[in-house]
Amino acid sequence: MNQSAIVIAIDGPAGAGKSTIAKRLAADLNLRYLDTGAMYRALALVASRRNVATDQEEAVVATLHSMELEFGPGDPVVVFVNGEDVTNAIRTPEVAELASALSAYGSVRKEMVAQQQAIIAGGGYVLEGRDATTAIAPNAHLRIYMTASLETRALRRTRQFEEQGKAEDFNRVRSDIENRDHRDITRTESPLTVAEGVRLLETGGLGIDEVLNQIKVWVADL
Ligand code: C5P
Repeated sequence: MNQSAIVIAIDGPAGAGKSTIAKRLAADLNLRYLDTGAMYRALALVASRRNVATDQEEAVVATLHSMELEFGPGDPVVVFVNGEDVTNAIRTPEVAELASALSAYGSVRKEMVAQQQAIIAGGGYVLEGRDATTAIAPNAHLRIYMTASLETRALRRTRQFEEQGKAEDFNRVRSDIENRDHRDITRTESPLTVAEGVRLLETGGLGIDEVLNQIKVWVADL
């Protein structure tokens, strides 16, 4: 099939390697990359800065409506909210935690999914996130659910923080991930789930290139 119009959706829990793989895959296949988690993180950052009552769904949705999100190229992807570069500010454990909490609101998800579907409508995207294969792109040409054990995922995240010069305690990272997994799996709105028909990719024993090669085999088969 025409590879430039392809949509590849990557789902799975925190630390499974979705971002790393989605970014590399997009670069290798000359597709654009959509980091849907960054959108929830941006919302969390703005809500916390503005002291929004985050236990009030309507207040959170109003915050989302007041935001203009833009993405630029780069690794990590450059994220602007109302013209301000928030790329680094959204990558803290506190923002991740609040993003996870706010992402449980049905009306927040509805608006996010609508924005995400508009972004990928023309095709040519690798998108990743915890509802990428279910709510956002159930008809993507290739849908992948990546996973790995909690220990492996926590270790990867701890190393990622280290590489960014932010030392985080492994046990804290592990319990943060565990909490977020739990919330993402048990929420009523689009819970994190292995959808029917997705390709399961257990990344525990695999390196980045091995994961990419597997996906490229699937792409070649489309
Ligand atoms: O992927 P990332 O860690 O940046 O996502 C932050 C949080 O946003 C996740 O823990 C999850 O609760 C939420 N999220 C979501 N749906 C997505 C992407 C992220 O609920 N598509």
